[in-house]
Amino acid sequence: MGSVFTSGWRQYRSVPIVYRIGIAFVLGSLVGLAVGQPAVELQPIGDLFVRLLEMIIVPIIVFTLLMATRELSPKNLGQVGGQVVLLYLGTTAVAIGMGLGVSNLINPGTGMTLEQTDVQTEQTPSPVDQLFSIVPENPMAAMAEGNILAIIFFTLIFGLGMTMVRAEVDPDSAVRNGIDTIFNVAEAGAEVMFKVVWGIMEFGVLGVFALMAALFGEVGVQAIEAYLSLSMTLALAIALQIALVYLLVIIRGLVGVSPLDFLRGIKEALITALSIRSSTATLPVTMSDADENLRIKERVYGFSLPLGATVNMDGTAMYLGIVAIFAANIAGVSLTLFEQLGILLTALLMSVGTAGVPSASLIMMAAVLTQVGLPLEVIGMIAGIDPLLDRLRTMNNIAGDLAVTTVVAKWNDAIDLTSGVWADVPAELSEESVSATNDD
Ligand code: ASP
Repeated sequence: MGSVFTSGWRQYRSVPIVYRIGIAFVLGSLVGLAVGQPAVELQPIGDLFVRLLEMIIVPIIVFTLLMATRELSPKNLGQVGGQVVLLYLGTTAVAIGMGLGVSNLINPGTGMTLEQTDVQTEQTPSPVDQLFSIVPENPMAAMAEGNILAIIFFTLIFGLGMTMVRAEVDPDSAVRNGIDTIFNVAEAGAEVMFKVVWGIMEFGVLGVFALMAALFGEVGVQAIEAYLSLSMTLALAIALQIALVYLLVIIRGLVGVSPLDFLRGIKEALITALSIRSSTATLPVTMSDADENLRIKERVYGFSLPLGATVNMDGTAMYLGIVAIFAANIAGVSLTLFEQLGILLTALLMSVGTAGVPSASLIMMAAVLTQVGLPLEVIGMIAGIDPLLDRLRTMNNIAGDLAVTTVVAKWNDAIDLTSGVWADVPAELSEESVSATNDD
C-alpha cells in the first residue's frame, strides 16, 4: 500500500511542475463554474500560496541584488540601468499605443449604458512623493513594509559601498574578509531561496486550483459575457504585444534566439502571474526562471526584475488606455487624436506608479478618466470583472520584464546562451534539470 502511494507520488512529481499547475488552473476553473458560490470557501488555500511567495520576496531581492553588486561597478550599473529604464518606458508606450489601436478597431462599450455605481477614488501619490519614497528614511522599515523600490535603492548603495571598500582595504584584513563573507552569504541565501521557490510551487498546484475555483465560483460566466468586448480588446492587444513586441522584435530580432525557447523558459512565471494577479508576489518565480532557465546573470536580473515588477507594467498601462476608450464609448463621446496622446502619457506615468498587486490599476484609472473628463462610474462597472482581466494584465507585465531583461543581458554579456532553455536538449528532459526540479 505504502509503495503504491510512493510510486504514485513519484509519478506525479515526475510531471514538470508547470504542467501540474496548468492542469490545476483548468480543473479549478471548471470546478468553480460547476459548484458556484460554495467554491469561494477554497479561497484561503489560494491565499496561503500567495502569502508563501510574498514571504520570500524581500530576502530574494536583497540576496540577488547584493550578488549583482559584486560584479557591477557604478559605471556598469549606470549602463545596465539606463538600458533597462529606457526599454521599460519604450515598451510600455508601445503597449498603450497597441491598446488604443485595438480599441479604436473594436470599440468596446458601444451600445452599453452607464450604470450608477459607487466609486471610491483614492488619492494617487504625486510624482514628487513617489520619487522621495524611493529613498528610505529607515531601510529596516522599508524591508518590513516590503517597499521594493526603497529596498532596491538601499541594497544597491550598500552593495556598491562594499565593492568600493573591498577594493581599498588590505586583502588580509578583517574588513575584506567580512565583505567576502557577506557576499558569500548572499550567494548561499539566493541559492536557498530558489530551492524554496520550487517547494512553494509544489504547494502552488493546490493553491492555483483553489484560486481559480474561488474566482469562477464568485464571478461565473455571466460576468465574462457582459464585458465581452472589453475583455476581447484587452486579450487581443496583449496577444499582439507579446507576439510582436516581445517575441518578434525583442527576442527574435534583438536577442536573436528562438521565441519558443524563451516562452519555454518563462512559463512558470507566466502561469503564476495568471493565477495570482500580482507582479510582486510572482517575483520569486520570475527571478528563478531568469536564473535557472534563461541563464541570465544576477548582475542584470537582480536589478531589472524587482524594478520591473514595480515600475514596468505594459499590460496595466495598455488597460488604462483601453478603459478610457471604453468609457468614452459608453458616454457617447469620441476622443480626438490629441486626447488619445494625452491618455498615452498619463497612462505611462500612472503605470509606473501602480503597485504590482491585484487590481492596483483600478485606483490609477481615476486619474486617466479625469484627465479626459470621462465618467468615473465606469470604474465601478468594470470592478466586477477585474479579477479576470487583471490576470491577463499581470501576465503581460511579467512577460515584458523578462523580455527586456533578456535583451539587456545579451547586450551586457550577462546571459549564457549555451545552457538552460537555449541548449539543444530541452531543459525538462535533461537529467540534471529533472533532478534539480523534482528532487528534494
Ligand atoms: N495586478 C497587476 C500587477 O500586479 C497590476 C494591475 O494591473 O492592476 O502587475
